[in-house]
Amino acid sequence: MKAYYELVDEIQRDVERLREESGGVPCPSDCFSCCRNTSTMAISEVEARDLKVGLDALPAELRTHIHQKAERSIKKLKAHGYDAEDIMPDAGMKAIEVVKGTPEGECPMLIGGVCSVYEHRPVICRVWGYPIQNSNELACCHKTFIGKRRQFRPLNYTRYWRVCQDLSRELGATQKTPNCYLVSQLLSE
Ligand code: SF4
Ligand code: SF4
Repeated sequence: MKAYYELVDEIQRDVERLREESGGVPCPSDCFSCCRNTSTMAISEVEARDLKVGLDALPAELRTHIHQKAERSIKKLKAHGYDAEDIMPDAGMKAIEVVKGTPEGECPMLIGGVCSVYEHRPVICRVWGYPIQNSNELACCHKTFIGKRRQFRPLNYTRYWRVCQDLSRELGATQKTPNCYLVSQLLSE
């Protein structure tokens, strides 16, 4: 996990560089729209291990609440014919359509508009809102860096994600897990 925490530090430095260059945090303080449709997002094993540290540190009643939220998402996904294995080939992009805009589409760890595992959130949550290089694409939240996405050196998400995958393989994991299934599993251990 040491290498993962080094990656997290590197991301933090890159984000701070971009913040300085662009004039601050790009997201409004009351916005959490991007946590609304993430119940099926792909999470790697190394991120999952850090997430577990965050979940374990929460009070029991919050853990129960998060677990119940994850289970409700799973139930709805299953009712539409999706199980953990069917969701992952496209990183959950297709499956999210059946829960999008509903409470079951929300990240289970979003509580009252706040990320309950903020210090332990997955890599994509650390970079979204800033321009990111993802393979050959420049991606960014549609609410931020409007009209100036190409003015700054983007965050190297391709590298961050590759490191996560390499470290996960070293831990013996070959598959990513959809968010709600992972959270349910971590809270059942
Ligand atoms: S882990 Fe936190 S930041 Fe990421 S989607 Fe969930 S609530 Fe949002
Ligand atoms: S990344 Fe976009 S949706 Fe997410 S908090 Fe920032 S402005 Fe809101």
